[in-house]
Amino acid sequence: MSAHIIDGKAFSAKVRSKIADKVSALKSAHGITPGLAVVLVGSDPASQVYVRSKGKQTVEAGMNSFEHKLDADTPEDVLLALIDDLNADDSVHGILVQLPLPGHLDETQVINRIAPEKDVDGFCIANVGLLGTGQKSMVPCTPLGCLLMLRDYHGSLSGKNAVVIGRSNIVGKPMAQLLLNDSCTVTIAHSRTQDLAEVVRGADIVVAAVGRPEMVPGDWIKPGATVIDVGINRIDTEDGKTRLVGDVDYDSCAAVAGAITPVPGGVGPMTIACLLANTVTACCRINNLAEDDFLS
Ligand code: NDP
Repeated sequence: MSAHIIDGKAFSAKVRSKIADKVSALKSAHGITPGLAVVLVGSDPASQVYVRSKGKQTVEAGMNSFEHKLDADTPEDVLLALIDDLNADDSVHGILVQLPLPGHLDETQVINRIAPEKDVDGFCIANVGLLGTGQKSMVPCTPLGCLLMLRDYHGSLSGKNAVVIGRSNIVGKPMAQLLLNDSCTVTIAHSRTQDLAEVVRGADIVVAAVGRPEMVPGDWIKPGATVIDVGINRIDTEDGKTRLVGDVDYDSCAAVAGAITPVPGGVGPMTIACLLANTVTACCRINNLAEDDFLS
């Protein structure tokens, strides 16, 4: 068996095109342009690349992009004051503080300062609580991207056995909650899980969000299962270069799975697309406009 490849690059392009249509409709019908503010503290090279890419795609979708770059030693009260200003700014509908923050800043405090309706990462405590109780919330972008790809491939997820490997607040836990909200039977595995191989073998859907290169081998995968690989790991190759790999061993898993996301080109491109989607959703809610189901 050779798995269907779930092409996150192509799917995210379709999602971004629907977002651009919705943005254009918001402009022409209501004279409103959704705006996303991204705050970067310090000069971490990977974060700079992400922020540049987010800004570029925001503009390409027809939205306003506001970038705030602060020095690595910015005091917390200065960052909190900037967030207060963005919370009060009517042209800003989404606020994202790029993580990780320098060590002297309290991430929890900073994230919870963002107004919940503008928290397009879905990380603040109010949005976590709303998602956990099945209410309308801002949904974290990476798990949302995984869910959209799963729904697109399967249609209904109801009744499927899903195993999420990883229990982080930004990927594993919200992913499990979303799958539960879609009526999957969900198991969350982590570093203390016993006989992980056997747990994974029971899954119709496997979401790997571990941060360990190629950890999941093909003989853990139930034939025909769907494998979503969230991992982004850079490994050294024999010729002195580096290569991106996921948390699953792609070749052996693809030989058994029914469908699989590649790395790169799977979950990654969907994460930014969902950030844009969340900004449009936030803009609609803040302005009391119909959200429609602009992604369907
Ligand atoms: P974290 O390090 O926060 O969490 C990793 C999780 O994996 C933890 O819950 C940990 O368990 C679990 N884990 C570690 N080792 C094992 C093991 N041997 N067996 C089972 N579980 C294990 O990572 P993130 O959730 O932030 O990210 C996970 C991966 O996803 C990373 O590769 C990251 O780069 C990638 N990522 C990709 C994104 C994208 O856009 N594609 C976005 C965000 C992340 P425990 O809690 O017990 O320690």
